[in-house]
Amino acid sequence: MPTVTEALAMMDYGPAPESAAVAMDWLKGRAFGHFINGSFTKPGETFAVTNPATGADLAQVSQGTEADVAEAVKAARSAAKGWAKLSGGQRARHLYALARLMQKRERLFAVLETLDNGKPIRESRDIDVPLAVRHFYHHAGWAELLADEFPGMRPHGVCGQIIPWNFPLLMLAWKVAPALAAGNTVVLKPAEFTPLTALLFAELCVEAGLPKGVVNIVTGDGRTGAALVAAEVDKIAFTGSTEVGRLIRQQTAGSGKALTLELGGKSPFIVFAEADLDAAVEGVVDAIWFNQGEVCCAGSRILVQEQVAETFTARLKARMAKLRVGDPLDKSTDVGAVVHTTQLDRIRGLVDQAVQQGAILHQAPMPNGPGSFCPPMLLTDLGAANIANTEEIFGPVVTLMTFRTPGEAVELANNTRYGLAASIWSENLTTALDIAAQVKAGVVWINGTNMFDANAPFGGMRESGFGREGAREGMLAYLTGDEATGKERKAPAAVSALPGEASGDAVDRTRKLYIGGAQKRPDGGYSYAVAGAQIPLGGRKDIRNAVEAAHGAKGWSKVTGHNRAQVLYFLAENLSARAKDFAPKDEVAQAVERAFYWAAWADKYDGKVHSTTGPNVTLAMKEPFGVMGIVCPEEAPLLGFVSTVLPAIAMGNRVVAVASQSNPVPALDLYQVLDTSDVPGGVVNIVTGPRGELAETLAKHDDVAALWVFADSDLCRKAEAFSAGNLKPVWAESRMRDWTGPAGQSRDFLRRSVQVKTVWVPYGA
Ligand code: NAD
Repeated sequence: MPTVTEALAMMDYGPAPESAAVAMDWLKGRAFGHFINGSFTKPGETFAVTNPATGADLAQVSQGTEADVAEAVKAARSAAKGWAKLSGGQRARHLYALARLMQKRERLFAVLETLDNGKPIRESRDIDVPLAVRHFYHHAGWAELLADEFPGMRPHGVCGQIIPWNFPLLMLAWKVAPALAAGNTVVLKPAEFTPLTALLFAELCVEAGLPKGVVNIVTGDGRTGAALVAAEVDKIAFTGSTEVGRLIRQQTAGSGKALTLELGGKSPFIVFAEADLDAAVEGVVDAIWFNQGEVCCAGSRILVQEQVAETFTARLKARMAKLRVGDPLDKSTDVGAVVHTTQLDRIRGLVDQAVQQGAILHQAPMPNGPGSFCPPMLLTDLGAANIANTEEIFGPVVTLMTFRTPGEAVELANNTRYGLAASIWSENLTTALDIAAQVKAGVVWINGTNMFDANAPFGGMRESGFGREGAREGMLAYLTGDEATGKERKAPAAVSALPGEASGDAVDRTRKLYIGGAQKRPDGGYSYAVAGAQIPLGGRKDIRNAVEAAHGAKGWSKVTGHNRAQVLYFLAENLSARAKDFAPKDEVAQAVERAFYWAAWADKYDGKVHSTTGPNVTLAMKEPFGVMGIVCPEEAPLLGFVSTVLPAIAMGNRVVAVASQSNPVPALDLYQVLDTSDVPGGVVNIVTGPRGELAETLAKHDDVAALWVFADSDLCRKAEAFSAGNLKPVWAESRMRDWTGPAGQSRDFLRRSVQVKTVWVPYGA
């Protein structure tokens, strides 16, 4: 008789199939039109949607044309007023109804999702669908509380929403629920590989009695998406690849459309020597082999501390070998089918290249037979520049490298253009939180990975995009209200360059740039004349020098809010003491008040602890961007400068400010106040000259993390378009603000000075 251990070793899984019947009955080989104004249109030109596990056709779906998109936008527009007019409570009832109906159809949704996408039924049943339902419940709550919690704010109007194929229903929920809660109407375009659960959701909208036109769904590929971006919508919310995100940034530049981008990632998974290694191995399974690795925030780069690397790698390989790849409808399958053969080819191509570049490939066993399957893979013995470490593979492929010190771990973790997520494994919470603060990522999981909740903000930094989904922060992305309402700004008259500096008796009136805490001559050696003063004509090189100086002033972002407040109070006092030296006279007193105002905020605009599911402390930390560019308003040369630069530095940013072009003297004169107020060199840098050229350099600069532009509409458009390189968030405002009133110290200045980092800290003995 075998021992228990031997019996366990001999045991195998029996088949545990979930029946596809419930979904196949619903599909019945149907051809779908679009869901516009509360009903389905007749199918137009259609394409087949297939089951990646078998290659079989599931349904025919229409390819949305420009006309289809226009019709959907029209329906959403007509519905917008009525929907926004409903009380929060009334909108909440609709969202509850949708949540309940989704719950009632959980099984159908889960099976349909698995058939369409290839993900294991265990995941669609236990993760995708319950989370989608949770989003609708959570946002029903926000609808209810909207007026109290977001006073003075209003919906954008019509939102165009474009989503990818990896979490089709969940991405729909992340987009549709907050948009509707805030009072917007939507036109959603699902991904062409996986539109089916969105079409089922459309049926629920009818059943829930949602007013016609509030939700519209147009299917199709990238061309349909592009038509939606170009359509008359007020906001675009996009989740997908960085490449397409960049295109959308360029296409929406200057259109006034609000934009949020949730893009790709190459997230680190950091294992310290003191980590619970078995838990970390299980973490890798959830990080990269969950959903076939088709997860934007997948932990795709393991960084393990040298002294435990061998043990960890051995355990990981043993675990990987046991993963079951196969029929997604089987409840004991760990890894299902990759969404489409084109994606499978892409994964294989990238892995081949990684191997050619020297990586060693280890992989799990594969099922026999047809279907778009890819075994879990581990790549070792590779350098940081290997393509598998630099490119998002979007498949079940993870790389492994080692590090020695925590500093090296941070360096390797941040050695990517992305900044979506990070996972940190250590039983030493002090180390883990220290590293969490240093990694460039919008979401950090400590001793965990891929945890999501409707009340936890999700989104990226750097080329992973901007904007957050979920929680209060996600609601703000669907609301507006703080924008300027004054006249459109005009571009200032062009400047003519004068060689050299002022000579003779005018010498004392020659100003200098202020860079790195010192007065600097402009690199080109030119100046321009303004009202008898000679102003340095700064150029690209000066901006680059200023950005370098701002980078050098890193310490400012690390000091406490209390320390920053003290410096700002001192600045306000010094400005007050020198008030008589400053012009324009009518701005000085208010500039002093404003300096005190932003000083007061320096230690108060803090984060939150969100209530999420599970035993977690989920922190939403407000972090400064780092180096920000600010093209200050042309009008209000002193007050406008103070009102924009000071909130940014109060929140811990270092700023390269472009002063008013036609009246730069008040800003340049501020250097004396900055010098005497203990503002460290490099925290505020002031450049004058042709604003167009200076703004362009800031927008294109990869080391400028966020940009504000208060300028004419043409410059605003250019700044947005030029920012597509590193995808920095741009706040471009072409209408004038009343700097003397409440709009001059709106909460928006704080909100736009920080980005939220969500840190999940699990607890439990
Ligand atoms: P994709 O960018 O190719 O497509 C995403 C969506 O955009 C699809 O609906 C597609 O039809 C549409 N689209 C394609 N071209 C378009 C265009 N020119 N204009 C407008 N829309 C267009 O990405 P994908 O391959 O479907 O999805 C994978 C990518 O999505 C990965 O990079 C992944 O990291 C990212 N992603 C990010 C998040 C996040 O929250 N950050 C979540 C999921 C996926």
